[in-house]
Amino acid sequence: MNKISEKNVTSFNDPLWQFQNSLKNLNGLSSLKLYNDDETSKILENSRFSLTPYYMSLIKKWDKTDPVFQQCIPQLEETEFSGLNDPLDEEGSTAVPGIIHRYPDRVVALLTNRCAMYCRHCNRRRFWNRSEADTSRSDMDIMLKYINENSQLREVIISGGDPLVISADNLEYFLNRLNKISHIEVIRIGSRLPVTLPMAITNELCKMLNKYRPLWLNTQFNHPNEITPESAGACDRLLMAGIPVSNQSVLLKGINDDVYIMKMLLTGLEKIMVRPYYIFHCEDIKGAGHFRTKLDTGIKIIEKLRGNIGGLCIPTYCIDTPGSGGKIPLNPDYILALDQNKILLKNYCNKIFEYKL
Ligand SMILES: *Cc1c(COP(=O)(O)O)cnc(C)c1O
Repeated sequence: MNKISEKNVTSFNDPLWQFQNSLKNLNGLSSLKLYNDDETSKILENSRFSLTPYYMSLIKKWDKTDPVFQQCIPQLEETEFSGLNDPLDEEGSTAVPGIIHRYPDRVVALLTNRCAMYCRHCNRRRFWNRSEADTSRSDMDIMLKYINENSQLREVIISGGDPLVISADNLEYFLNRLNKISHIEVIRIGSRLPVTLPMAITNELCKMLNKYRPLWLNTQFNHPNEITPESAGACDRLLMAGIPVSNQSVLLKGINDDVYIMKMLLTGLEKIMVRPYYIFHCEDIKGAGHFRTKLDTGIKIIEKLRGNIGGLCIPTYCIDTPGSGGKIPLNPDYILALDQNKILLKNYCNKIFEYKL
C-alpha cells in the first residue's frame, strides 16, 4: 500500500471525514445524468438529501435496481404528492415539543431532526422543510420536566432524526438527567448510524452509553448488502459495551419485499448478533408511495420464514396506526378452527394438527 492510499483509508474510517465529505445535494452526482436541472430542483424542493461516502460505497449498481441506491438517492416519484404528511399523527400525540406520548408507559423523545443519511422512505419527512437543527438544552429541560412529572412512564425512546449525530456532550446531558428520574427504568435509542455511518459508533461513544444501562439500541438494516464488516463492527462495539442491538426494518417495494432477500437479511443479522424486532409495513407517506407494498406481502413473507429459519431471526410484522392506535401486529393465521373441545392448527409445512383442549 502506498502512502496516499494509506492516508485515504485512515480518512475513510474517520467519522468526521465522513461528515465533512457527505454529499449534501445532487450536484456531486451530475455526471451520472440521473435527472435534468428542472427535475433536480423539483426533487429537492422541500426535501433533504445527505449521503455519507460510506453508505454511498455500498451502492453496487447506480440505478433503481440497487437496494442501497433506492434508499438514499431521490427519485422523481418523490414529487408525486399523494399520501400523508404525518401518517402516524405524531403531531397529535405530541405532549410537549419533542415528546410523542401515545402508550401508557413509554414516550418517544426527539433530540434532533438531522440524520447522516436521509432515507427516502422516512416517515418523518414532514421535518424536511424545516432547517436542520438539534434540540437545545432548554428545550430538553422542558421534555425532561414532562417525563419527570409523569410517573407512569418507565421507558424513554430517544429518536430524531438520528440522536447519535448530536454532540456526545448534549446526548449525555439528556441521558444523565433521565437517569436521575427514579421512575424511568429503561432507555432505548433509535439510530441508523450503525448502518449509514458505522465509524461514528466509536469505542468512546459506547463507553459513554454503557454508563446509562439498561440501554437498548434499535437500528434499521433493510437489505443484506448493508451487512458489512464496518456495520457488523459498529454493532459489535455496542454489544461489547453491554448494549443489545435490535433491528427494525421497513418492508420496501423492490428492496426487501421478497422471501429470499428477507431470509438473507434476517439470518445475516442473527450472525452479527442483532435481533430482528419489527418489520414495519410502509406507511402512506407523502413522497414515499413508490415504496409501498400490499399488506399481505409482509404476512406471506413471515409465513414462509416461520419454521424454516430460527425463531430468533423472525421479527413481528406490524402496521403502525395514527395517534393512539399504535403498532398492530399482523400474523399469519395458524388457527384453522376452534371449538370447546379441540383446536385445528396448521404448522409451517401446512400440515394440519388436531389438538384436544
Ligand atoms: C413505536 C413507538 C413506541 C415503541 O413501541 P414498542 O412496541 O414498545 O417498540 C413508543 N411510542 C411511540 C410514539 C412509538 O411510535
